[in-house]
Amino acid sequence: MKRTLWRRVGLVVAGLVLVVVVVAAVGLSDVDVPETSRFDADLGAIRALAVSTGAPLPTGLRSQHVGRASGVPQALVVAGSGFGEVAFDFNAYQVVYADARTVLVDFVSDEETQQAQFPGSEFDAAAYSRVQEALRRADATVVTHEHFDHCAGIAHSAYLDEVASKVHLTDEQLRSPLAQEAGFTAERRARLAPLQYERLHLLRPGVVLIKAPGHTPGTQLVYVRLVDGRELLLVGDVAWRQDNIRLPRMHPRLTNWLGDEDAQAMAHQLRWLHDLLRTAPELHPVVTHDGAQLQDYQRRGLIQEGLL
Ligand SMILES: [Zn+2]
Repeated sequence: MKRTLWRRVGLVVAGLVLVVVVVAAVGLSDVDVPETSRFDADLGAIRALAVSTGAPLPTGLRSQHVGRASGVPQALVVAGSGFGEVAFDFNAYQVVYADARTVLVDFVSDEETQQAQFPGSEFDAAAYSRVQEALRRADATVVTHEHFDHCAGIAHSAYLDEVASKVHLTDEQLRSPLAQEAGFTAERRARLAPLQYERLHLLRPGVVLIKAPGHTPGTQLVYVRLVDGRELLLVGDVAWRQDNIRLPRMHPRLTNWLGDEDAQAMAHQLRWLHDLLRTAPELHPVVTHDGAQLQDYQRRGLIQEGLL
């Protein structure tokens, strides 16, 4: 009798261990990036739309580093990349024009929200104040998506009423529960007019928004064409490292599950971005959380540090 009981316990334990091993193995594997992209975006149409008004194009793209979260397991960022750790940098970007008008792209989080999500992470309060002042001066503000580290600083801004008419969150972003988590309560959302568009939208001369749901329902890419012909593409969190695009390789299924992502949609977007490295080498993808890439772009004069 006793022996039968122990045998049953042993079988149950072995079964549970097997389930854990299988879930871990599947969770750490990644959805394949397909050979051909079905992501519906035509670079020719994007480029044409960017210059369609004939108005002066932006003169530069600037960035402001505000925070950093260290100790993120590398294996959750680029599938199969080993057991190291990586840091996530938090930056705001600013498109600038010759007449001193500006467009902000992506906004960092306020300190309280960031610390709640990444306890003990670095936060530069003085830099955050500069981003808030840039928000007040901006002609327009958009975000790549509705995660807290890209928009909570708007939701919690002391200047929300003052800037509301110039903050253009999309309908999808505002309707997403993630916006609520980032601090956009019903009362705050009611102060903003949702931006509605299909596929492409010319925000300002040289700045085109490209719908790219997948990482979140409200994800969009932001294409920027400068007056000197250089092109940048802010990809939000479609990629967390330039390696996601370069290899191309997704983060693992576990990250897809935790983030409630549409992995197939993201895989097609990564293929599109990867192919552009070859077919449009003059177009530079900007991977916002990849500090090494930003330093490289700053060295090459593609992005200037500090907001106007
Ligand atoms: Zn992010």
